[in-house]
Order: sequence, then C-alpha cells, then structure tokens
Amino acid sequence: MEGNREKNIVAKVVIVTGGSRGIGAEIVKQLAMENYNVVLNYHQSEKQAKEIQNNLLEKGKNIEIFQADVSKRDEVKKLVEFTKQKFKTIDVLINNAGISQEKLFTQIEDEEWNNMLNTNLNSVFYCTQEVLPEMIKKQNGCIINISSIWGITGGSCEVAYSTVKAGINGMTKALAKELGPSQIRVNSIAPGIIDTQMNDNLSIEEKEEIQKEIPLNRIGKPIDIAKCVKWLIEDEYTTGQVISVNGGWYI
Ligand code: NAP
Repeated sequence: MEGNREKNIVAKVVIVTGGSRGIGAEIVKQLAMENYNVVLNYHQSEKQAKEIQNNLLEKGKNIEIFQADVSKRDEVKKLVEFTKQKFKTIDVLINNAGISQEKLFTQIEDEEWNNMLNTNLNSVFYCTQEVLPEMIKKQNGCIINISSIWGITGGSCEVAYSTVKAGINGMTKALAKELGPSQIRVNSIAPGIIDTQMNDNLSIEEKEEIQKEIPLNRIGKPIDIAKCVKWLIEDEYTTGQVISVNGGWYI
C-alpha cells in the first residue's frame, strides 16, 4: 500500500472546494480513485469530510482534508499553503463550494445578497487568485468552476444565485483568454438539477414535475458532474467553455 502511495505522489494535485458533501464529495472520491492527490476543503461538515478521507486512505489513496470558509481570503490563503506544504504544488482547482437560496427578489436582504456573492462568487475570485502564481510558474494548470443552469437561463426566485453563477461564467470566459498563453485552461460546468441536499427543499411531486421536462427523463446524480470534471482535467484543448450537464433540460 505504501508503495502505491509513494508512486501516486507524481500524480496531479487537485483542490476541491466544498468537497464534504454532494457534488464536491463525488468529485473528491472519483479523482482520488483515479490516483490524483486530492485536498478536500470543507467548511462545516467535518464528520463527513473525515469519513470520506478515512474511506479513501483505507484504499491507499492520497487525500488530505482542510477546513476553510472559502468566502474569506485569509482562510483561502491557508488552504492553498496547506496544499503546497502537503503535495508541493497545485495542478487543478475545482471551485465547487456553494450555497443556494430561493426567495422573491423584492424580499432579499442585503446580508443575504452579500453572503451569496461572498460564498459563490468571491470565493472563486479568491481561490483562483491564490493558486495562480503556482500555475503561472509551471505554465500549466486547470481551473473548473461549478456554475449552474440558472447562470445561463436565469431562475425565478433565484435572482441572487443566478447572478453569481452568470458571474462565474463571465469570469471563466475572460480568464480563459487571459490565462491561455500560460497554458492554464479555465472552464465552467453548468449542472441542471442534481440530487443533493441543495434540493432538499423540493417535494417528491416537484421533482417528478421537473423530471418530466428533462429529455433524458431523470434527475442528475453527482457522478454525472464528477465524470465531466474528470474529462475536463484530462482534456488539453478545451478552454473558456460553459459546459451544460443537464440531461437536455435546457439546450
Ligand atoms: P450541497 O450538497 O449543499 O454541498 C455544498 C458544499 O459546499 C458542501 O460541501 C459545503 O461544505 C460547501 N460549502 C458551502 N459554503 C462553503 C464555504 N463558505 N466554504 C467552504 N465550503 C462551503 O450542494 P451541491 O448540490 O453539492 O452543490 C455543489 C455546487 O454545485 C454548488 O456550487 C452549487 O451551486 C452547484 N450546483 C448544484 C446543483 C444541484 O442541483 N445540486 C445544480 C447546479 C449547480 P460544508 O458542508 O462542509 O459546510
């Protein structure tokens, strides 16, 4: 087992923000099983993060966990420092951490609006800026932002969420142009509806109604997004794209 772990140290180093639950947790598991060196960032779900880590360590995989609120620059700096200390470098950043909120636009409080911006958009700004010196030095890197269908189409009663996800898509395209000459690729994945705790507010009936609108006739699973992440990491010529993984819900 130790030999396997030593061998893996040459594999790519990936940071996954919000890796303790849902889509992020699945990305962590899939990449670790592919022998990437993974740093799982979590905020509040320490128990889940430790469980994922222990399961993967038992399988001989390289996984570290680190608690950080990615809406705060100083905590992001510590996450990036930790990663470099453990694995020496950073090859891939997955900006996945996020929150959602359903509310009439007229009722959104300033604090809620700012929290959405800080958690879902400023976090992407902080994490990306903090990993870039290492990627620019290497003249190689891959950044994947988890956006949303609502960032493309806009979602009623999800104006704040739609705004930050559209912001992520704009950031993705602009950064891809700026960083292309440094051989750093930047892409977004825009999931449709994926079965995670984020959608626990939907009733079974509401989910069934949504399912009827999806050509592939099912709600997505975290693995559907994790597979696209894996493909994007391995790809070498895709950048600046917002890739819809939504079962055809919006085409
Ligand atoms: P989820 O199950 O609610 O998980 C959210 C994750 O984000 C958790 O691991 C959570 O960590 C982390 N997180 C939240 N705030 C954080 C912070 N300040 N610092 C660090 N981590 C933080 O949600 P999900 O469905 O997996 O969503 C993951 C991403 O996909 C989000 O960006 C979301 O907007 C996007 N997305 C989801 C769907 C969907 O239908 N599920 C659709 C489109 C896009 P802790 O639990 O440790 O606090």
